Order: sequence, then structure tokens, then C-alpha cells
Amino acid sequence: MSAPVRFLPLVDTHAHLNLDAFAADLDDVVARSRSGRFPEIRGRRVEDALFRPFLAAAVCPAVDLESSLRALELSRRFDVLYAAVGIHPNHAALAERGDWETIERLALAAVDVKVDANDSNPAVPPSLDGAKLVAVGETGLDRYWDDAPFDVQLALFLKHLELGRRTGLPVLIHSRDANDDLNAALRDFCADAAPVAQPKSPSLPNPPNSPNLTAKSPSPGVVHSFSGTPEQALAWTELGFYLGFGGFVTYPNRKFAEIAEAARVAPLDRILLETDAPFLTPHPLRGKLERNEPLTTAFVAKRIAELRGLSVADVVRQTTENAARLFRFPTLPTEPTPL
Ligand SMILES: [Zn+2]
Ligand SMILES: [Zn+2]
Repeated sequence: MSAPVRFLPLVDTHAHLNLDAFAADLDDVVARSRSGRFPEIRGRRVEDALFRPFLAAAVCPAVDLESSLRALELSRRFDVLYAAVGIHPNHAALAERGDWETIERLALAAVDVKVDANDSNPAVPPSLDGAKLVAVGETGLDRYWDDAPFDVQLALFLKHLELGRRTGLPVLIHSRDANDDLNAALRDFCADAAPVAQPKSPSLPNPPNSPNLTAKSPSPGVVHSFSGTPEQALAWTELGFYLGFGGFVTYPNRKFAEIAEAARVAPLDRILLETDAPFLTPHPLRGKLERNEPLTTAFVAKRIAELRGLSVADVVRQTTENAARLFRFPTLPTEPTPL
């Protein structure tokens, strides 16, 4: 007699499914991920035949206004996709006049149904209807690409943090070669803790499969694709942030050892899984997949399980619970949807 298969509902908390890399076959990617079938990589299993991971939810971060609107559209089309709106630091200098204001109004409208799009703000596109907006971002600091002057990046980052505070939506934070700057910015921001405004309509029921935006997120946000030290991991979770772990934590190269150590010591209830798809494919699929896809979060879970001496099932259960808490997801599917 064979043991029953255990389904593992995964959440990819950072998947750029709204980028061109997925434009041609997103329906397939989502359906395959929901069914728990990996992209063509010779049927690799995550642990053994008893576990079957599948995608229960994915958050699509934005890099500019256009991708913000696209993320909203995808969240309307696919029940497992959720949207964020924001401007990536590498796009900070490209943003046009009014882009930020539109994003701001979208986020405000998402948590406060009393905001009248036709009233004082004609700039709000009528695109929130039925969309599942759960976060602000991605935003942050990037000294690696250095596409925008640092002071422009920082000013825009602070605006995102402030918007997160005003709306109670968690902020998706990017940091590349800028962890010390990020540390300073987060400390300043949290020290200056103004009370968070509560949404004005707490009694309005959420439509089915809509995030519970009537309660504010328990955290200011997540530092995604964490690439810092164990000390930074502990400091930032202490400040209330979550940490998103992706491909980096799986890479065997020595220069990623600190990130792995951070994933080992960070509080388990603050850890999220992510892909940063289409980028950062985890080991051992790196170089074998043309692009990264949400389901490979299973390999991140496997690595974190190894590091912490836990089972993959425990890591998936805990990280999915963490994501549901942070983003206030509605009830997530507990079984894969067959193709
Ligand atoms: Zn990023
Ligand atoms: Zn990203």
C-alpha cells in the first residue's frame, strides 16, 4: 500500500510575471504551476514522491507604472496572482511626471473604498475593479546597476515606505550592493514611527478571493531576495520586516555562504520564499532553465529545510503561513488544480 501524496501549497512572494519574459505563455506557466508540474527539466522531484508542491499564490511586483497596471490586470485574471504597485529604483529616473502620484492613488484606493476615483483625482485609472492589490513596490536601493542617482532612489524609496505606512500595505524592498544604506534608511524610518492610518471602511466585506485589506498588515514589509549578513537579517526582522529568500540561498559558491547562514538563523516565522522570476533560478536548475518560474520556490524551501534541519513540508507550511499573514491572502487552495 502506498502512502498518500502530501500536497505542499507554495507561495512565490516575488515573481515578475508581468514582464515580457512571460507575455507569450503566461496562461501555461500559471496553469502548470498550479498543477504542480515543473517546467521541462526531466521531472526533477523536490524531495521524494510523497511530496507534491504546487503554486497557491504569487505576488507580482511592479517596476514602473505600466507594470503596476499590468500586475493589477493579472491579479484580476488569475485567482492565484496578486499585485503590487510601485517604481523600482533602477527605473526611478525614467518615471514620468505623475506616475508616482497615480501609483499612490491606486494604493490608497485599494485600502479605502471611499476614495472616489472621479472625485478629486481624475488620474486614477479605473483599473482597480476586481484587482487584488496586496503590496507597494518594488522599491529600494541599488548601487550595482546605479541606473538612477542615489539621492533620487532614496527619495523615491522613502515615498514608498511612507505610502506603505499610510495604507497599511507591506512594502517590497529591493537592495543590491546597498545593504548599509538600506539599514540606515530602515532604522530612520522605523525610529520615526508615526501611527499608521487605518482604512476608513473596516466593515465592508471583501469580495470572494480578495485579500483582507480591512486589517492592516502586521509588518511594514519584506526585504526581498535577501543578500545581507546574519546580523542584518536579525536586525531587520527585529524592526518588523520579513525576509524573502530566493536563488541566492541555494548557490553553493562560498560568496553566498553568509546568505545561507542568515536563512539558518533568521526567525522562521519571518521567512518568505520567492523566485524573482524570470531571474535567479535556484541551484540545481540554474543554467538548465531558460527562465525562472514560481514553482522553483520548492528548491528554495528544500535548501532552507536542509540548513535548518527541518522537513521540506515544515518549511513550506510555515513560509506559506507567513506570506498569508503578511499579504492577508484569502483562503488559499490546498490542492493542485489538474492541468
Ligand atoms: Zn529586486
Ligand atoms: Zn524583483
